[in-house]
Amino acid sequence: MSAAYPFSAIVGLADLRLALVLNAVSPAVGGVLVRGEKGTAKSTMVRALASQLPEVAVVPGCRFSCEPVRPDEHCPDGPHDPAVGGVSRAARLVELPVGASEDRLAGSLDIERALTEGVKAYEPGLLAAAHRGVLYVDEVNLLHDHLVDLLLDAAAMGTSHVEREGVSVRHAARFLLVGTMNPEEGELRPQLLDRFGLTVEVAASREPRERAEVVRRRLAYEADPDGFAARWADEDAALAGRILAARKVLPDVRLPDAELERIARVCASFEVDGMRADLVTARTSIALAAWHGRTEVTAEDVRQAALLALPHRRRRNPFDAPGLDEALLDEALRDPEEPEPEPEPEPEGDGPDGGGEPPAGSDGSERSDGADRSDGSNGSDKADGAGSEGPKSTEAAPSSAPGTEDAPVAGAPAGSDGGREQAAVAAAEPYRTRLFAVPGVGQGAAGRRSRARTASGRTTGAQVAAGRVTRLHVAATVRAAALHQKARGRTGAGLLLRRADLREAVREGREGNLVLFVVDASGSMAARKRMQAVKGAVLSLLLDAYQRRDKVGLVTFRGAGASLALPPTSSVEIGAARLAALPTGGRTPVGAGLLRAHETLRVERLRDPLRRPLLVVVTDGRATGGRDALGESRRAARLLAAGGVASLVVDCESGPVRLGLAARLAGDLGGPVVTLDELAAEGLAGLVRDVRSVA
Ligand SMILES: [Zn+2]
Repeated sequence: MSAAYPFSAIVGLADLRLALVLNAVSPAVGGVLVRGEKGTAKSTMVRALASQLPEVAVVPGCRFSCEPVRPDEHCPDGPHDPAVGGVSRAARLVELPVGASEDRLAGSLDIERALTEGVKAYEPGLLAAAHRGVLYVDEVNLLHDHLVDLLLDAAAMGTSHVEREGVSVRHAARFLLVGTMNPEEGELRPQLLDRFGLTVEVAASREPRERAEVVRRRLAYEADPDGFAARWADEDAALAGRILAARKVLPDVRLPDAELERIARVCASFEVDGMRADLVTARTSIALAAWHGRTEVTAEDVRQAALLALPHRRRRNPFDAPGLDEALLDEALRDPEEPEPEPEPEPEGDGPDGGGEPPAGSDGSERSDGADRSDGSNGSDKADGAGSEGPKSTEAAPSSAPGTEDAPVAGAPAGSDGGREQAAVAAAEPYRTRLFAVPGVGQGAAGRRSRARTASGRTTGAQVAAGRVTRLHVAATVRAAALHQKARGRTGAGLLLRRADLREAVREGREGNLVLFVVDASGSMAARKRMQAVKGAVLSLLLDAYQRRDKVGLVTFRGAGASLALPPTSSVEIGAARLAALPTGGRTPVGAGLLRAHETLRVERLRDPLRRPLLVVVTDGRATGGRDALGESRRAARLLAAGGVASLVVDCESGPVRLGLAARLAGDLGGPVVTLDELAAEGLAGLVRDVRSVA
C-alpha cells in the first residue's frame, strides 16, 4: 500500500486545519463538521488527521482499546489483569459508511448462538474500533436515521450498548466525531448538528496560484506517493510534535473570569440554545491557548473559538444560511466597560504574547504550518463563502418592485394578461403543516412520512428468518419450536431449538417520500398577497419535507409551458431558493405542468424505485393557454391517477366568486383538495392524515 497524502501538504483550508488540530489537542472540543462543495480536499485532510494524533496506550489483546491504567469495567474482553501493562499503538481513524447496517456500527450479537448454544458471541462494530480515536462519516447528511440515533446515543453516553432479546453488551465508545458534507445534498438533523463541537465551511480557492499549487502537489503525489510523503515527513512530524506539546500545556491553561464572561456574552447575543455553545467555546478557547503555547486564554482566542463553535448553533431554521455575522460578534465580544472601539480595535492587553500576534513564529513553532494563518484569513473566507448566497426563508426576494404592490391582474379573468411577468414576491412566514402521507405501506428509505416496512420501528408480525437473524421474534420462535418438541425427543425442561424455528420480527416504521410540487405561477395567481401566501404554504410544506427526510422536486408552470425548476433532490434549501426566485405572470398551462410532473416521476422511478411519490399541486385550477386548456389538464390529471400516483391539490382560489376548479382537478387526480387555510396543523389532534382519508 502506498503512503497516504500527508496532512501538511494540503494547500489552504486553514480553518479546517485549525479545527482538526484543536480537536487533536483537546478531544473535549467535540469534533468537527465540515461543509463544502465536492473537490475541496476536505476528505483528504480529515483522513490525514490520523497521522497527527498522539499514540494511545492500550491493553494488549483487548478489542475495545481499554486504557491499561483505567480499563473499562464493562469491557466484554475484560476483566483485565492490571499486571499485564500496556502497549502503544497509533490512534485510529475509522470510517463509517453512510449505508452501514446497525450491526456494523454497534457490533453484532449472535442471537442464534446465544439461543442454540448458550454462548454470548459479540462481534465488535465500528463504535468499538473508533474508541479513543476518530469516527469519520463522509456525506454525514446522508446517514440513515437509525444510525444517527445510535451515534447520538453513543456520543451522549460515551458507551455503546447493544441489546437483543434480553442479551446485552456494553462497552466504552468515546471518539472524535468528524463529518463532511455537501450542503447541496441536504441538511443535517438539528440534534446531530448540535453534536459537532465545531463547524467549518470550505470552498475551493479562487486564487490561481493556490489552485496551481494544489494541482502540482496532487500530481507529484500520484507520480510517487512514497517519495512525496517522505518529502513532507519532517513537516508532519513537527506538527505532530507541536500537538503533543500543546496537549501537555492544556491542563495548565487558565480561563480568566473576564474571558469566561466574554464567552457567555457572545453566546447570549447569538441566542444559542442551551449551554452547549458556551461549553464548546470555552473548551475551544482553552485548546487555542494551548496550541499557541500559552497558559492563559485571551480575547482573541475567544473570538476565534466563537467563529468555529457558534455558526451552526444559532440557526433558526434549515433555510437560514450558515456563518456568523462578524460585526455582531465583535459587538458582543467588546467588554461593556471598555470605551467604544477605536478605529483599530485591540484585544485586551495581556502581555506581549497576546491574541493579536503575527501569524507565525512568535510561539516557537518551526514554520507557518497553516493553522496559524487562519488568524488572518478567517474573515475573508467567511465573507465569500456560503454566507451571501444561502437561501433565506422569508427575505429571499428583496426585489419587491414598487410598481407591483397590488397587481392589477388580481381579480382579472384568467388569460387576459397575456405575457405579463412580475418580479418574485417574498414568501409569507412558514408554519407547521398537517401531515399528508402516501396511502399503503412502502419499503422506501427511512423517514418520517408514510408507513413502511423498515429495519427499525415497532414489531407488527413475524416471518421465517432468511439469513442471519438480528431481530428475533421470541414468541413466534417458541411457538414454531413447540410443535416439534416430541418429534425431537425432548424429555427434560429445556426447549429444543433448531435453526428452522427462528422467526424474525417484521417491523413497521416510516419512510421518506418524493414530494413533487407542481406550482402554478401564472397571472391568475399573481396577486401579490396571494402569491405571498402560496409561497408561504409551499415553503411550509418544504420545511415539513425536510423534517420528514423526503426528497423534493419543483415543477412550475406559467406562460408558454412548464419547467422542472428543481429536479428531485434531498436539498430542501435549494427548493426554497428556487421558490423564492419564482417569477409569476402569464397564462395557466395546468396540463403542461402535470405532464411535466408525470415525466419527472417516470424518470425518478427508474432512479429510486422504492421511493414513493406524493404529488402536491398548488393552483387555483383555472387552466388557460390553449384552445382546450381545461380538457388538457383533465386528461393529464387522469393519466397521473391511472399510474397510481398519490396526490394532493392545494386550492389557491380566493375572492367572493369561487369556481371550484381545483376541486375538480383533485377529483381527476383521485386525491384530496385542501385550501391554503386548511394546510396548517390545528393542534395535535388530526395531525396525521392519510392523503385519501382527507378526501
Ligand atoms: Zn478491554
